[in-house]
Amino acid sequence: MCLSFLCNKSQCFSRDRVGIQDFVLLDAYTSETAFMDNLRKRFNENLIYTYIGTLLVSVNPYKELGIYTKKQMDIYMGVNFFELPPHIFALADNVYRTMISETNNHFILISGESGAGKTEASKTVLQFYAVCCPSTRLLDNVRDRLLLSNPVLEAFGNAKTLKNDNSSRFGKYMDIQFDHQGAAVGGHILSYLLEKSRVVHQNRGERNFHIFYQLVEGGEDELLRWLGLERNCQKYRYLIQGECAKVSSINDKSDWKTVQKALTIIEFSEKDIEHLFAIIASVLHLGNVHFEASAHGYATLNSSAEVHWLSKVLSTDTSIRFSNNYALEVLSPFTAEHAKYARDALAKAIYGRTFSWLVNKINESLANKDSTRKTVIGLLDIYGFEVFDVNSFEQFCINFCNEKLQQLFIQLTLKSEQEEYEMEGIEWEPVPYFNNKIICDLVEEKHRGIISILDEECLRPGEATDFTFLEKLEEKMCGHPHFVTHKLADPKTRKTLERGDFRLLHYAGEVTYSVVGFLDKNNDLLYRNIKEVRGFTTVATQFKSSLAGLTEILMTKEPWYVRCLKPNHCKQPDHFDDVMVRHQVKYLGLMEHLRVRRAGFAYRRRYEVFLKRYKALCPDTWPHWKGTPAEGVQRLIKHLGYKPDEYKMGRTKIFIRHPRTLFATEDAFEIC
Ligand code: ADP
Ligand code: MG
Repeated sequence: MCLSFLCNKSQCFSRDRVGIQDFVLLDAYTSETAFMDNLRKRFNENLIYTYIGTLLVSVNPYKELGIYTKKQMDIYMGVNFFELPPHIFALADNVYRTMISETNNHFILISGESGAGKTEASKTVLQFYAVCCPSTRLLDNVRDRLLLSNPVLEAFGNAKTLKNDNSSRFGKYMDIQFDHQGAAVGGHILSYLLEKSRVVHQNRGERNFHIFYQLVEGGEDELLRWLGLERNCQKYRYLIQGECAKVSSINDKSDWKTVQKALTIIEFSEKDIEHLFAIIASVLHLGNVHFEASAHGYATLNSSAEVHWLSKVLSTDTSIRFSNNYALEVLSPFTAEHAKYARDALAKAIYGRTFSWLVNKINESLANKDSTRKTVIGLLDIYGFEVFDVNSFEQFCINFCNEKLQQLFIQLTLKSEQEEYEMEGIEWEPVPYFNNKIICDLVEEKHRGIISILDEECLRPGEATDFTFLEKLEEKMCGHPHFVTHKLADPKTRKTLERGDFRLLHYAGEVTYSVVGFLDKNNDLLYRNIKEVRGFTTVATQFKSSLAGLTEILMTKEPWYVRCLKPNHCKQPDHFDDVMVRHQVKYLGLMEHLRVRRAGFAYRRRYEVFLKRYKALCPDTWPHWKGTPAEGVQRLIKHLGYKPDEYKMGRTKIFIRHPRTLFATEDAFEIC
């Protein structure tokens, strides 16, 4: 057996070229430059994975590397974590085996900015479990459904954005449940804050959710006829605002087929599927409903064809009287602007509820009927930190979510490290790090945070506007080190801010938000008249509590991390943008994590494990040691000449400060 991560002998000829597989082993481990050099070197050799201890760093290659095959899975299955080159399969396998041997729950947090490879990573992990876990004919069903939930949710919840042609516009947490034999027996999905505004509006260069284009491009003739749709995306107002209905990397037609097949396997009935697409078609028709201002200033509606199809596909009465198929002019107390607002609000509501329904249906199909105790591996693939030219309420929520996850990472990594030292009776000096709690509080603190202030303004209909919200923020946040606006800024910064902006200094960098639309999006009402619906929960508050719920779910599980890095802005292979990657390394806290791993003890092994592996190196412990494993290890390392500052003896484990100590032992072992 060769511990290749330690095996500097066998690798030294190529180490210069391929770099080091675990940053913990870097000699100049505190140097960001050395870190970057190692990462770049490996990326240039198509080695996209590197460890920091058990954390996996992954750089998006933007090309197929052929490293996710069944053969690769077989290689990684059941092999010790550090024995093979870093791979997401190694992490998946390690999590799985730890779960089985310790019968406890785990989660894998996959983070990184939009387009960094999170969703691909989460799919790869799921694939690994689907292929590698023991299965029976009966369980094959579960496995297929788990896998096929992906294309369905992606069709309805992903869209082309400027950052990523397949960007997840919702957060997803998926529990995979395993029985005591390690077979995948069920699953459950939680979805977070779908970006509904995309249904009615897309920025230039972006699209609506994939499913609309799939239906129009791929839907069978008969289906389209039945839904009153034309095979031409250009006909639908909700599909063309971004001016890029066609995307070269996306094949809507074949994706449509995949989704159809998936829906059937997940056991959507024919009726369900019919209803589903009737609703999707209704959104397209709704988008084409057109209002004009009458001479009296009211909205007039005379889109008879759209309304006809709307009523047909939704099987509702339009409440509009038609005579001889001519629509009468319908007068409403709304202005044209109000009417358009109500139309868009309805479209968003329909789509949002359909998405929730879809997630529920999938969950029903993944539910495990057997009530015996299960262990779970949770996979968290949630939208990454986002900065656009114009950032709105959606980015505010997404970036807040990333702050919360960073907070969790800080708490769990430092906490568990400290706990382990404490439990083992080892002294430990904490490593300084930036704690982003201050930013989380700025956003979510009760009565004082941005969300509270936003909610307060939402409860003053008629009086409050986006701009009074901004004024309140300025009043309450004045002097906060992470908050600035045009009014509060120093002269130099002021030049970079518009009057309607506020800027947050997130842990990942500055983001300037335009307040326009904040109140409206936070209210998320079907009609503008909010006076009648007091006491409702706003979007931001709902999101805040669902994130608190998520944190609770995660805190009870053992964490594993995949940190995804984006190598460049242009979705290009073989292009490593140093400045951009360095920035991500910084804000993801990778250097700090590395320091934490190194400041304490780089490696730790249970006494039994350590003794079993190296007992041949000492005549007193070979072939059998009769005393306790701890005493055996003590005898062994004395014989090997470990110096007192190189190691510490804990209650159940030996802690080794520097990897080189272990290197030397490993070298001795190989020679022997
Ligand atoms: P995120 O979920 O972080 O926004 P995705 O996982 O959707 O990003 O990745 C964006 C795109 O990058 C994918 O559509 C794919 O083209 C490419 N990509 C990501 N990870 C890999 C990988 N491991 N190998 C090859 N291509 C990848
Ligand atoms: Mg994604």
